Amino acid sequence: MPIRIAVIGSGPSGFYTADALLKSEAAVEIDIIDRLPTPFGLIRAGVAPDHQSTKRVSRAYERTALDEHVHYIGNVEIGRDVSIEDLREMYDAVVVAIGMPGDPPLGVPGDDKIGVVGATKFVGWYNGHPDFADFKPDLDTKAVAVIGNGNVAIDVARVLVKTADEMAETDLPSAIGAYIQNAPITDVYMFGRRGPVEAKFTNVELREMGQLENAASIVDPDCLPEEVTGEWSDRDKRLRERNLTTLREFPNIDVGTKAKRVHFAFYAQPIEILGDDIVTGIRMEKTNVVDGRARGTGEFFEIECSLVIPAIGYALQPFEGLPVDENTGCTANDNGRIADGFYAVGWAKRGPTGVIGTNKPDGKIAAEQILEDISEGSKPGRASLIARLDEQGVRWTSFDDWQAINEAEIANARPKAPREKFVTIDDMLAVVDKA
Ligand code: NAP
Repeated sequence: MPIRIAVIGSGPSGFYTADALLKSEAAVEIDIIDRLPTPFGLIRAGVAPDHQSTKRVSRAYERTALDEHVHYIGNVEIGRDVSIEDLREMYDAVVVAIGMPGDPPLGVPGDDKIGVVGATKFVGWYNGHPDFADFKPDLDTKAVAVIGNGNVAIDVARVLVKTADEMAETDLPSAIGAYIQNAPITDVYMFGRRGPVEAKFTNVELREMGQLENAASIVDPDCLPEEVTGEWSDRDKRLRERNLTTLREFPNIDVGTKAKRVHFAFYAQPIEILGDDIVTGIRMEKTNVVDGRARGTGEFFEIECSLVIPAIGYALQPFEGLPVDENTGCTANDNGRIADGFYAVGWAKRGPTGVIGTNKPDGKIAAEQILEDISEGSKPGRASLIARLDEQGVRWTSFDDWQAINEAEIANARPKAPREKFVTIDDMLAVVDKA
């Protein structure tokens, strides 16, 4: 009997696991389960809409999904439609590839005020994720504070200041694009609690910030050291030197004719979110870096704004029955092994770091572990799951259904755009029901 494997989550780590299993010589049947009708996880709902070339990796996942030994089962939520215990009864192996879809708290007084919107939520919203279809951030503000110096912070800042023209060829949902571009935002502050050398954004993303049509990226040259000091590998040192070179090309104050500014504000940590129930500003403390860590200097300043977007990493959203390691915030696992026949890959395994390709080795390791642990399948797999879902009246979707949604989105695209995303599950299912 083939080994029957359920992969929970259809983002990169889920697809790389399926791909690695297919490439083995073993007889496998793989079901990729996702709580949305649409596959591809962060590729669809995390990668910025203006990074379409990055999103093209989903073509490789599509080839995997179309393999006769792989089935996509969408619109099924673990915990709501089927429990993890049941899934482990039904399948020889279960792989958790759910990423880290939550926002960690900023951890300063006032971080629960209306107007503090974690980057996962904000990015999910502008990427048309159905979880945020009813959400509308208040963008009636001149300034926005983005906390963090990673690529997500850069994505958020860039999407906030790009023009309609610059976003024309993207899959930013039209209504959301118009809402952002008509907002009175003129200044986006990207606060890094450490300095430019410690910043985590990569150089391609940083350079893009110097090439925006109507927004100037500005930086105080006094914040830029002459050289990279500290303990870095040769490669890391080179990357940081490149970032410094790019930042040196950014102006200080003079933004010429551009109407908007992105302030690269280093050495500043959040202290308090100001306002009653609703954010009116943020209080920051200047820092210096000692032994690689940010240390407050006791010098404070405030920025008036009604939107604060912490882009400080991600948090796991475990379903019932998924053990969590309180120290790492990840699934409790030993190099991916959670328990017998139960594995984790990607961010759920090792936390929210790395690029898309970093998930590839995770998938390979999980495939090797599964084939090491299980020589032959003995469980019913999909037949049992589908019977259960049908019995419960769950409207699950297949990869064919996704392809119908995909075609409808492409057909609905405004001129130049690759697609017009459906942002509610009902709208997605309406297409499937019509097809
Ligand atoms: P990240 O790279 O880990 O950056 C998180 C940032 O938040 C860091 O600057 C960190 O500062 C800061 N931070 C954390 N806690 C904080 C706090 N309490 N107060 C103030 N600042 C705080 O994470 P990310 O931007 O979410 O990205 C996640 C992964 O996805 C990364 O590997 C990233 O490269 C990748 N990604 C890539 C792309 C792309 O390639 N275009 C796009 C998006 C994401 P410290 O350094 O001081 O901790």
